[in-house]
Amino acid sequence: MRRLSILGSTGSIGKQTLEVVRKAPGDFTVESLTCGSDIDTIFDQIKEFRPKVCSVVNESKAMELSSRLKDEGIEIEVLTGEEGNITCATLGSCDTVVGAIVGFAGLVPVYHAVLSGKDIALANKETLVAGGDVIMPLIREKGVAMLPIDSEHSAIWQCLKGEKREDLDRILITASGGPFRSMTRSQLENVTLQDALHHPTWNMGGKITIDSATMMNKGLEIIEAHHLYGIDCDKIDVVVHPQSIIHSMIRLKDGSVLAQMGKPSMVLPIEVALYYPDRGPSIVTEFDPFDAAMNNLTFEPCDTEVFRLVKLAYEAGRKGGLVPTVMNAANESAVMAYLAGSINFLGIEETVFETVEKMESSISRLDLTIDNICQTDKDARIYADELLKGKIK
Ligand code: NDP
Ligand code: MG
Repeated sequence: MRRLSILGSTGSIGKQTLEVVRKAPGDFTVESLTCGSDIDTIFDQIKEFRPKVCSVVNESKAMELSSRLKDEGIEIEVLTGEEGNITCATLGSCDTVVGAIVGFAGLVPVYHAVLSGKDIALANKETLVAGGDVIMPLIREKGVAMLPIDSEHSAIWQCLKGEKREDLDRILITASGGPFRSMTRSQLENVTLQDALHHPTWNMGGKITIDSATMMNKGLEIIEAHHLYGIDCDKIDVVVHPQSIIHSMIRLKDGSVLAQMGKPSMVLPIEVALYYPDRGPSIVTEFDPFDAAMNNLTFEPCDTEVFRLVKLAYEAGRKGGLVPTVMNAANESAVMAYLAGSINFLGIEETVFETVEKMESSISRLDLTIDNICQTDKDARIYADELLKGKIK
């Protein structure tokens, strides 16, 4: 039985994690739930799953939730602020923390969870992009498990089971290509926010949906795979596979290629992580090789001259240090501005490139510590926000 603290329980991954729990309640307990401000959703989740503690970052929303729960006669400790996330992540009664917060905000709670010996089921890729050089050594030092949830990394993990690490030659990470696959640079100049939010195969939170449209999501995933599997970014190829059936592949040194397949759904990778090293019950619709979607599985290269953030992510991953931290922070600021309707689509990319270029030399002297990672994230956001002010439509 796993005793879960779910950080970001009201989001797309958080809700699907609770779907897994709901299907097999005897296999899990829910010790704590956290969110940013969506108290309507967390209220219903608390009623159903009865955690001991919950946390809402927004303080006035936390107070409102607390009084609603009292009125309902539900006894539970309601915490708030970033501290509340850390308390939930380190709760004595929990053994596994599900990292489903979006963005850099997920890093510090996960860091504390690892420090206190929890296994980590990680969806929040920004944690590894910004802080993988600190998190992964700590995972090894503490002897806890890193259980990947991101579907590509789950696929790679499953393919690697039983293989010797030194036999891994390359990773072929698949990408749907997003809503703007096959577009030219000039076509990208005219896309709308509504177009960008319309992902062809996956239904996800707003930030990752935009990251999929710019293909930065794949860039972040290259760096995530580099940290999880200790492989150079140059040994990771992006394969655009619009049907999203093959979730990634590995090539072994003898040339064998192993792939993991399934319909696009995050429920299965979440389940794989939570039941590791066992296998759980079948809760997704059965895979049908005769389904129409299976008739035409196609593969294309990724055009990094059109989707330039993928190229930048390769460079940032190669350089390492705090460069990916800056890239991630600038991307988060730019995506938030784009979601707010303040900048156009290519403004995201411009902001990220300009911020990385500006900050690269000043961060090169800094040691890779959790404090320097947090400070660099802040500094990069301040710089990116300044740039964004000048780009407002
Ligand atoms: P959503 O935007 O749907 O959900 C984000 C969650 O984080 C919400 O519960 C939100 O609370 C919460 N949150 C935001 N800020 C804070 C904070 N400071 N403290 C606590 N909680 C916070 O995102 P997704 O579920 O789509 O994505 C979550 C992570 O998983 C991302 O890193 C994403 O890249 C990754 N991922 C997602 C996939 C997907 O299919 N969705 C696939 C693979 C990876 P509130 O609702 O109150 O705002
Ligand atoms: Mg993914």
